[in-house]
Amino acid sequence: MNILTPFEYFAPETLDEALELLATKENAKVIAGGTDLVVQLKEKIIHPANVIDIKHIPELNEFKVEDGKGAVIGACTTDAFCEFSKELQAKFPAFSYAAGEIGGPQVREMGTIGGNLSNSGPSAETPASLICYRAQLVLVSKEGERTIPVEDFITGNRKNCLKPGEIIKTIILPEPDKNTYVKYAYVGLRRSMEIDVANMCIRLDVDGDTIKDAMVVMGSVAIKPLISEAVPAVLKGTKIGDEEVIKKAAEAAQSEVHPITDVRASAQYRVDVIGALTRRILRDLADEIKK
Ligand SMILES: Cc1cc2nc3c(=O)[nH]c(=O)nc-3n(C[C@H](O)[C@H](O)[C@H](O)COP(=O)(O)OP(=O)(O)OC[C@H]3O[C@@H](n4cnc5c(N)ncnc54)[C@H](O)[C@@H]3O)c2cc1C
Repeated sequence: MNILTPFEYFAPETLDEALELLATKENAKVIAGGTDLVVQLKEKIIHPANVIDIKHIPELNEFKVEDGKGAVIGACTTDAFCEFSKELQAKFPAFSYAAGEIGGPQVREMGTIGGNLSNSGPSAETPASLICYRAQLVLVSKEGERTIPVEDFITGNRKNCLKPGEIIKTIILPEPDKNTYVKYAYVGLRRSMEIDVANMCIRLDVDGDTIKDAMVVMGSVAIKPLISEAVPAVLKGTKIGDEEVIKKAAEAAQSEVHPITDVRASAQYRVDVIGALTRRILRDLADEIKK
């Protein structure tokens, strides 16, 4: 039976209180939605002596989207809130879509964006789009705050650069340029409650029908989100929707990934999926841009 190892539970009401607890309580873990953490507790992967619930702290639930100023999203904002926010759907559609593809509705009502990032799983849904939107994280501890790009936050399989006593406070999304288009897609083995076989987000910065710049981030094919160097090199300076270029871009993406075989997919299938995702996203982006 999955009986939890005993721990002390704290529910601080302010950020200062939470940071004090984190700095002073031994072997402490924060819990937000608990959709990852409770599984790890039940499976006895982790054995915290103290669990600090940060979900209802006002500073961690900030949400602001302003014209010309992008968005500020508190770490404890739920996946479901980001899925259904009209403002995020309009300004950051790929991120809103990615948040809406996490687990099922119950998981998204509980789970938070800060939790998704901090868990730092290789197949996590939100990092690829946040990296493409050049999102930054504000990390906070008793010592103060620091800001770090999402691409530098995740350092390995379930590893990140959080220091002891530090948590994610907010996610900052800069205002996207009107000539920037971002799309996220993934392949899983069933329609929901699946873990991605592979996922990908592509950002295109365009000038008329020419690709000025591009960014491609791939998930579930390495220990952390993989930022492509080869695909932007293929895409830059080409015409949107050129089938020859799309084919070469897919081959370039496939040449960069060296995924593992696991219960969900073989390494070769993941490489095939990466090719398919590249073609699908680039064609979808071409249709969207030409509209
Ligand atoms: C059935 C099921 C299906 C799922 N499907 C998907 C899926 O398709 N895609 C996907 O990406 N994920 C999936 N998940 C994982 C999970 O739901 C998400 O990662 C969720 O967003 C995690 O948020 P949380 O608030 O529940 O995190 P928690 O479980 O509360 O915390 C996760 C980790 O992050 C730490 N943490 C939480 N918040 C912070 C913070 N602000 N600062 C520092 N550390 C923090 C915790 O200490 C813990 O280590 C699934 C989970 C379940 C149970």
